[in-house]
Amino acid sequence: MDYAVPPPSLNTLTVAGRDERFPVNRVFCVGRNYAAHAREMGKDPDREAPFFFMKPARAVVDAVQPTALPYPPMTKNFHHEVELVVAIGRGGRDIAAANALDHVYGYAVGLDMTRRDLQLEARDKGRPWEFGKSFAMSAPIGALHRAADIGHPSEAAITLRVNGQARQGSDIAKLIWSVGECIAVLSQYEALEAGDVVMTGTPEGVGAVVAGDTMHAGIDGLGKIEVRVVS
Ligand code: MN
Repeated sequence: MDYAVPPPSLNTLTVAGRDERFPVNRVFCVGRNYAAHAREMGKDPDREAPFFFMKPARAVVDAVQPTALPYPPMTKNFHHEVELVVAIGRGGRDIAAANALDHVYGYAVGLDMTRRDLQLEARDKGRPWEFGKSFAMSAPIGALHRAADIGHPSEAAITLRVNGQARQGSDIAKLIWSVGECIAVLSQYEALEAGDVVMTGTPEGVGAVVAGDTMHAGIDGLGKIEVRVVS
């Protein structure tokens, strides 16, 4: 096959304990899925239907090894959001919440890095969030743990520290919309495909990082990632 320009490389994630890698297709992110985070963003945490935004597959960074993350351009308020990441192993449309976990390949800890100033300006002007959320290296993700190996975690501590100091701490049991419910709603709008990734939302305590800061993000049972912000 001849290409008119060099074809982009596939972004892949490490699978814990295996040689095979997980090829990333699309990245769907859930907004405001923990009540205390909805409140800190100035929104009502009532259980309205979940909403989604997307990042390009190329925003994903395999962060199994300590990872250097360049401070992105055009922001003065670069925020961490630690999240439970779900990898889809089997696609489908109109998936019932009751069977939705059968479509999950595995789970990981990840960061939905956010240019908060750009996101909030867009939000308040009724514009798309893309430039606040969808940029290079905005989704560092650790090793995927296969559901076949660990099952489907429904409660586990989720934490983020910056330079050793606790910033975010909650439990994935506090998700407003569970993993199965998120998959069910998403699949009504778009047929899910193997390789899709769902970032399930962040708990309270989001905040800014600057060059020189080191983040440690973890979910019990899914390991930890270390991401250092560099200029
Ligand atoms: Mn998020």
